Amino acid sequence: MCQPRQDEMKKVSYNGLNFVPYIENATIRARIKELGAELNRDLEGKKPLFLCVLTGAFPFASELFMEYSGDAEIAFIRLKSYEGTGSTGNVREVLGLTEDIANRHVVVVEDIIDTGNTICGLIEELKPKNPAEIKIATLLYKPEALVRDIKPDYVGFEIPSKFIIGYGLDLDGVARNLKDIYVKADD
Ligand code: IMP
Repeated sequence: MCQPRQDEMKKVSYNGLNFVPYIENATIRARIKELGAELNRDLEGKKPLFLCVLTGAFPFASELFMEYSGDAEIAFIRLKSYEGTGSTGNVREVLGLTEDIANRHVVVVEDIIDTGNTICGLIEELKPKNPAEIKIATLLYKPEALVRDIKPDYVGFEIPSKFIIGYGLDLDGVARNLKDIYVKADD
C-alpha cells in the first residue's frame, strides 16, 4: 500500500534529468541474435573485421561479435573531432586503427546514428584505405534526425528523435552500465 507505482520505481535520474525504461535487456539481446544471423548469412566465409566505435558501441559490439559463428576479427577505434576547420566543419580522425583494412570486409559497429555526421566522417576516412566493402551495424537509428545520405545495413531498433541512455550510451560519461535502454522522460 502507498508504494510508488511500478513505472515510477523504474525511473532513473542523471544530472537532474529523468529517464524511463524503453528497451529491456532481453529484447536487446534477442534483436542482436537476429542481426548476428543476418551477418552470418551475408558474410559467410569472408572473415570480416568488426570495427567497434568506442566508447558507446562496446556492449553491442561484443554481443554481435559473439553471434558471428565464422572466422572474424575485431578492433576498437575511437573518433577524434576537430572544431573550426573552415568550410568542412568537423573533421574526424580515426584513432587506434592499426589493422590493414585493404580488401577486408569491414563491419563498422556503432551505438547510435543520429544526424549521421559521425558515421559519414568515419566512412570517409575508411574508404581511401580500400576495404572490399564496408557494412554498417548500429544498435539504434533515429531516421528523423538524419541530415546525411546514409543507410545502415543492420539496425537494432529504429527510434524517434529522443535522448537515450544505457547499454553503452551515456549522458556526460555516466549511465553506460545500465543493462536496459532508457529514454528521456517528457516531464
Ligand atoms: P551523429 O553524429 O549525430 O549521428 O551522432 C552520433 C553520436 O552522438 C553517437 O555515437 C553518440 O555518441 C551520440 N548520440 C547521439 N544520440 C544520442 C543519444 O540519444 N544518447 C546518447 N548519445 C547520443
